[in-house]
Formats: sequence, C-alpha cells, structure tokens
Amino acid sequence: MIIIDGAEGEGGGQMVRNACALSLVTGEPFQIINIRAKRSKPGLMRQHVTAVEAACVIGNAECSGLSVGSSELTFRPGRVVPGDYQFAVGTAGSTGLVLQTILMPLILADAPSRLMLEGGTHNMLAPPFEFIERCFLPIINRMGPTVSARLIRHGFYPRGGGRIEVDIQPAPLKPIDCVERGQLLGVSATALFAALPFDIADREIQAARKMLTDWPAETFAVRQLPDGAGPGNALLLQADYAHATEIVTGFGQLGVPAQALAKTAANRMAGYQASSAFVGPYLQDQLVLPFALAKGGRFSTVKPGSHLLTAIDGVEKFLGTKLQLARRDGGVHEVGLG
Ligand code: ATP
Repeated sequence: MIIIDGAEGEGGGQMVRNACALSLVTGEPFQIINIRAKRSKPGLMRQHVTAVEAACVIGNAECSGLSVGSSELTFRPGRVVPGDYQFAVGTAGSTGLVLQTILMPLILADAPSRLMLEGGTHNMLAPPFEFIERCFLPIINRMGPTVSARLIRHGFYPRGGGRIEVDIQPAPLKPIDCVERGQLLGVSATALFAALPFDIADREIQAARKMLTDWPAETFAVRQLPDGAGPGNALLLQADYAHATEIVTGFGQLGVPAQALAKTAANRMAGYQASSAFVGPYLQDQLVLPFALAKGGRFSTVKPGSHLLTAIDGVEKFLGTKLQLARRDGGVHEVGLG
C-alpha cells in the first residue's frame, strides 16, 4: 500500500486525483492522510468526493473515508471497465477536474468510453472547458488515443448546471516531444457572460485590448450566453501556435473589477508569449501523468510551479520513475524522462 502525505508539496486536491488515476492504472492501493492540509478549508470538498467516486465506479475500487471534510482516504483499485458513464458534481465543482481523475485509466482501457459530466465548466482554479479541448486534448491525441470533448451547457460558480461530453478511443500512450511551439498562427480574446450586465464583459475586452496592443482589433469579442447559464463571466485569451495552443482565463468574481481581471489575464498571456516555452503554467502539471505513462518524451515549459513538482513526486511513488527537470536558455525548462 502506497502512503501519501497530503500535507507535502502543493498540499491540495490534485494529489488525490492523481493518486486515484495512478492507482487505477497500476493496480496499487493507496492511503492518503492530511488531505488538502495546505488549504484554508482542509479535507475533501464536494468536487474531490465526486472525482474519487467516479474513479471508484470506473475502476471497481473500494474506498473508505470518502466524505466531504474527510482528511484520510484509503483506495483499493479493481478492474477498470470502459463504457458509458455519467457523473454529476452536486455543486458547481469542476467537470474538468473529474475528467482529470478518470481520463488516463480510460485511455489505457481495452474499449471506448463515453462520459457525461455535469457541474462547473468554467471554475476558478480549474481548467475551463476550452483549455481542456484546445490545449490539453490535442497533446493527448498526438500521443495515440482519440479523445474529443463537447461543451453542451456552460456552468459557472456558484450555480453550476453545466455539462460536457467526452468520447474516448483508447490507445497506448506513445512518447512525443513538445519542445518547439512553432510560429504564431492567430490570437483571440473572448469575454463570455451570462445573466450579467453587458458592460462587465465589454470593460474586460476594452482593458485586454489596451494591454495586448499587437493583437488585431477584430480578434476581441464579447459572447453572451443564455441567461439560464448564469450568472457567470470568464475572459478567455487564446494564442495558437503551429504546434501548441495556450489559453489564459480570467474568471469573473464578485469584488474583482473587470479591468483588474483583464489586466492580470493579459499580463499572464504576455508572459507566455514572451517566453518560447511550449507549455504554460497550468498545463505543465496536467502533462505529468500522460508523459510518465508514455515512459518517454519531453516538453518545454515556463517556470516550474508547485503543482508540477508535486505531480512528479506522486508519479514516482506509483511508477518508480522520476521525470527530470532541466533548465534551458531564456527561462525555459524542460521536463522529461531520462
Ligand atoms: P485545492 O482546492 O485543494 O487547490 P483543487 O483540486 O481545486 O484543490 P488544485 O489541486 O489546485 O485544485 O488543482 C487544480 C488543477 O486545475 C491543476 O491541474 C491546475 O493546473 C488546473 N488549473 C487551475 N487553474 C487553471 C486555469 N486557469 N487554466 C487551466 N488549468 C487550470
């Protein structure tokens, strides 16, 4: 049984999700203590419980300690059974994070799966749908599997009610290199809003335009969603390169002025564009599992964050292999096996 101290490293929910995914893939049971010890409200939250429940269902796992607030969990995996599954996060918890938990086991299964996930699709501190579809999945698909995702309905915090569907054609993961992102092909800035004044989205777009001065005027747009999807707001800044796509998201929240949100997002995008790295600050931890399971390949990235380092440690516990980090010129880092 692998023992994980959830107070180490990043000390958040990612450790729980990655442990479930790795446990299902390797057949190794695990126990995690001090779950989310570094968060202001430690223990499992609703969305983590749903993610672990989903892992139990697809992998016939036995689990004890699985409840909201729990700080200890034991997980004994069974056989992963591909198929049609539906999981609903009872709150606006992120559908993307549930997907993170069960995608690798289903990609490595022996038949296709279809998932319907309900909850939040644009949550703070989680990958929004477009990020999964345009930044993450194209890399997974280059590694062998065919995974496609559809956004059926938007879901914002706190109301939720969003829905995504994901089709998974499994295949072994093969090593690839994601080092050169290639030339810039296009950019876009979209302010999504639902059941909120148009002015909020408009101010975000105007502020982003002022910051991203070399982005063409016609690439800035406001998109109104049906009122039923709201209230909610997100600013998505996207840069498409020949081999990579980066999306920086500003999530609207009460008390944060639209201009400030746009400024932070635009600064982050400018930082990514100024570097030559393939992988931005969020995708870096999300690629650790697929690259480790592919047993090779490498990617270039911006400064390593604590989620990346913690994910690398988690993988070492289950697979016995350690992804190496190497510093390259111009503040770029490279992550790879050996
Ligand atoms: P906790 O509340 O404990 O932090 P959590 O499960 O909500 O738990 P993390 O452990 O911080 O969250 O993991 C969040 C995941 O979401 C990481 O994989 C991170 O890369 C991803 N993520 C967060 N924000 C974004 C974003 N703006 N774009 C893309 N991915 C994101």
